[in-house]
Amino acid sequence: MSFLSEKKLFVFDMDGTVYLGDKVFTDAVKFIKKLRTEGKKILFFTNNASHNTNFYISKLNKMGFEVSEKELLSSADVTAEFLVKHRKGKSVYLIGTPELYNMFAKKGIKLTNGEKADITVTSFDTTLTYEKLKKACTLIRSGSEFFCTHPDFNCPTDSGFIPDSGSIVAFITASTGKTPVYFGKPYNTVMEFICEKTNCIKSEIVVFGDRLYTDIALGKKNGVTAILVLTGEATIEESMKADWEQKPDYVFPSFKEIYNLMFE
Ligand SMILES: [Mg+2]
Repeated sequence: MSFLSEKKLFVFDMDGTVYLGDKVFTDAVKFIKKLRTEGKKILFFTNNASHNTNFYISKLNKMGFEVSEKELLSSADVTAEFLVKHRKGKSVYLIGTPELYNMFAKKGIKLTNGEKADITVTSFDTTLTYEKLKKACTLIRSGSEFFCTHPDFNCPTDSGFIPDSGSIVAFITASTGKTPVYFGKPYNTVMEFICEKTNCIKSEIVVFGDRLYTDIALGKKNGVTAILVLTGEATIEESMKADWEQKPDYVFPSFKEIYNLMFE
């Protein structure tokens, strides 16, 4: 597969792509290990901003992926960098987990208790309360800028789907009539961020994922090769019916077939 051999940066979604919950896909471990020996750059990118970098690195490394800190980025990194660069000194009310709160605080973002804030940022908050939603709605209604780390409606778990960041936004939008600016996959801020952090250009990159409206759309909307693996959310039927911006360039059952085509 020369189109893959020519790529320099291999970007992987995580849940449903290289593992599912706590179950590692051993073909993904083998594929990524081989890519490293071929001198390819590896990047893991997850929209899930409910955990910090250390959590994911330790999870991936327990599974055998041998990931370094610079090989892992999330929608939280993209959002935090935007706030630091383009909204310097502005106060932020965050609907997020304590891990996300601490990560924003470490970056120097001025976080408030929600009585006042120039900006309201929502995310996948597993510690969500009605009080937090009420504060966010009041702030947004009175003109606070509305940002969201990622648009995913559901998060896959071992016991099925649980409501994710996009579902929390739906609640706030229903109350305020306002929609946020999003930062995760598939938005172009993510691809620009990836290019900047890795010194790669779009034609050198290939994106792998299990979800059409985030992973595959990240590639298609930005002119980057996008490959769907059928180990997570999307089915072959859904991929065939998808509009151009969510239609994968290639579809494989798993990394086993990709490995065999590329290396055997
Ligand atoms: Mg996924």
